Amino acid sequence: MTEPKNELHEFHWIMDMLQTIEVGLVVLDREFEIQLWNGFMENHSGLSATRVKSRSLFEVFPDIPQGWLRRKVETTLTLNMRTFTTWEQRPHPFPFRSARPITGTEPYMYQNITFSPLTSASGDVDHVCLLVYDVTDSATARLRMERTNARLEQQSQTDGLTGLLNRRAWESLLASEFERFRRYRSTGTLLMLDIDHFKPVNDTWGHQAGDDVIRAVSGMISERLRQTDIAGRYGGEEFAVILPETDIGGGKILGERLRHSVGTMEVTTDAGILQCTVSIGVAQVTATLADHHQWLSLADNALYAAKDNGRNQVALAQGPVSR
Ligand code: GH3
Ligand code: MG
Ligand code: MG
Repeated sequence: MTEPKNELHEFHWIMDMLQTIEVGLVVLDREFEIQLWNGFMENHSGLSATRVKSRSLFEVFPDIPQGWLRRKVETTLTLNMRTFTTWEQRPHPFPFRSARPITGTEPYMYQNITFSPLTSASGDVDHVCLLVYDVTDSATARLRMERTNARLEQQSQTDGLTGLLNRRAWESLLASEFERFRRYRSTGTLLMLDIDHFKPVNDTWGHQAGDDVIRAVSGMISERLRQTDIAGRYGGEEFAVILPETDIGGGKILGERLRHSVGTMEVTTDAGILQCTVSIGVAQVTATLADHHQWLSLADNALYAAKDNGRNQVALAQGPVSR
C-alpha cells in the first residue's frame, strides 16, 4: 500500500520542481497547441497556464516567427532528436521583457532554446518540449565586450584631434590601393597637403589656435571628398588623400578646389579669426613604381616643389621617383 503513495509524492515533487525551475518549459503538440506551460513561462509572459492551455502558440504570440518555429519543431519530431537555437541566431524568440532593470541596456530577455521530442507511452512522437533558457547576462556581457572591442579598434585607427584616419591606418589602406592597382591595373591618385607657414601660427597665436586650424583644414578636406576617397592625417599639419579610380587630371581639379576652399576659409579661434593656405602635391600611380612607398615619395616630391615655388599651389608629380 505504501508504494503508490510514494509514487504519488514523487510525481507531485517533480511537478512542483518543473513549476518553479528557472527555465521555461513548454510542451506543444503537432498543431502547435500549448499542452504545458510552467511557472517561468507564466511569470515572464504574464499569462497563466489555464489561459494558454490548448491554444495555438502562434495565436498567443503572433510575433513569433512561424516559419522558423515550424521548421524547428518538424525537424525535432522527424529526426526524433534534440535541436537547439541560440540567442546569436534568434535573440528573443519569446517577446519577454528582461528582468534586469540594473543592467537596463537590454530591454528583452535573450534566450537559448532546446527542442526535445517527447515519446508517449504508446511510443509515438507527437509532442515537443521547449526548454527556454534566460541567457541575458552572458549575452549582454558578450555584446558589451564586442562593442568595446569595436570602439577600441576604431580608436586605434583614428586620429584624436581630427577624427581622420591616423597615419598607420591610412598607410595600410594606401598599400591595399597600390596592390589593387598592380593586380587590376586600375588607377588612383594621391594628394599630399601641408599647411603653409604653420609654425608661426603656433608661435603667434598659441598651440590651441594651431589645433583649431588643423581641425578646420581636416574638416574642409572631409567635406570636399567623395565617399570613396580616403583621407588621413599624415603628420602634424600634413594630410594625405587617396583618390581611387582617379587620374592626375582629376587629382589636380580636386587639389585646386581644396586649395581654394582652405585659402578662403576663416577659422574662428579664441585668439581671433585666422586664415591659412595649403600646398599640395599630386601623384598618379604608375607601372614603374615598385611599392606604395615610392608612390608616396612621388607625391611628397611634388609637395616640396609646390613649397619651393612659393606655396599656396598645387604641383603635379614629374615622372618616376628619384631615390
Ligand atoms: P611650411 O610652409 O614649409 O610647411 O612651413 P611650416 O611652418 O608649416 O612647417 P614646419 O614643418 O616647420 O612646421 C610644422 C609645425 O606644425 C611645427 C609643429 O609645431 C606644428 N605642429 C605639428 N603638430 C601639431 C599639432 O598637433 N598641433 C599644433 N598646434 N601644431 C602642430
Ligand atoms: Mg609639415
Ligand atoms: Mg607646413
